[in-house]
Amino acid sequence: MTQPSDDDVTSVSTPFRSGFVALVGRPNAGKSTLVNAILGERVSIITPKPQTTRNRIRAIHTLEGRGQIVFVDTPGIHLWQKKKLNQLMVEAALAAVADADVAILLIDALDALTGKGEVDPLELYILEAIGSLGTPIVLAINKIDLLERVDRLLPIIDAYGKQREFEAILPISALNAGEDVEKMVEFVLERLPEGAMLYPPELYTDQAERFMAAEMIREQIMLLTEKEIPYAAAVEIEEFKEEREAGSLRMRAVIHVERESQKGIIIGKKGAKLKEIGTRAREELERFFGKKVFLETFVRVEKEWSHHQRSLNRLGYKEP
Ligand code: GDP
Ligand code: MG
Repeated sequence: MTQPSDDDVTSVSTPFRSGFVALVGRPNAGKSTLVNAILGERVSIITPKPQTTRNRIRAIHTLEGRGQIVFVDTPGIHLWQKKKLNQLMVEAALAAVADADVAILLIDALDALTGKGEVDPLELYILEAIGSLGTPIVLAINKIDLLERVDRLLPIIDAYGKQREFEAILPISALNAGEDVEKMVEFVLERLPEGAMLYPPELYTDQAERFMAAEMIREQIMLLTEKEIPYAAAVEIEEFKEEREAGSLRMRAVIHVERESQKGIIIGKKGAKLKEIGTRAREELERFFGKKVFLETFVRVEKEWSHHQRSLNRLGYKEP
């Protein structure tokens, strides 16, 4: 029999951990920014508009020899109205929390309290919705770079601490992520069960390339259009072809909108808007895939796609 070496002893004392960490919060709290900052890769699209993220997106963060955290970026939790899509988005977020080992509830430091210093009503609703799921919750107060003074944090910590017990309350800035975010990652890692890798370590998202491509085009639509248009558009990649010899990618994307008038807006005068969307998306896609991209875009009207489960399924918004 051989004696265990020193190396073996170290590996026994720090077990490998793995599990799921759901990121939840109201639209625009900074969930996608945080997940991209932790990974140092673009996994989720980000725009200043609320409800940018529509699906659950898994982002895989492997810490060599120590663990693997699968962050689940979720659509924002909001009081959904009539659209089936919105209902699905909220359900997806809640299901992600229920399935996770730990949830990080992200709040926006500037929107966290009412004028009277009470917990914002939407945040109360979110706390209630996720509080009953039994998943341990870490409260992350985000966007602290926007606070004029650090002591502005105290009333937030106080008001939220009165609502329920959190595993921790951690102030962070997802935009200027540094030690604060690193500490949060360490904190959640410690709370994951011992276990093996869940995904190959070189992978950083479970999303297929087609989905990533569709999201990057949708990101440009959200950035370059106004009012209801960003929410009326869904992108489907009809063709995704790798041309190995040329080292390039060829894609055909269809932008679905709900009405004829919206089609006109997305196409723009003499096709100018669609051209701008296509050009910017292509630049992003080339950066992401590291290849030359040929992108064709079309706009099609699919009446009320966001209201019908059948259309939603086809466009990648399935029930959780
Ligand atoms: P999500 O809807 O929760 O996924 O939020 P996003 O990640 O899409 O971010 C919404 C907006 O908030 C974007 O304009 C981000 O740039 C901005 N944002 C996110 N985190 C921070 C932060 O720490 N500080 C500041 N100043 N802005 C942030
Ligand atoms: Mg998001």
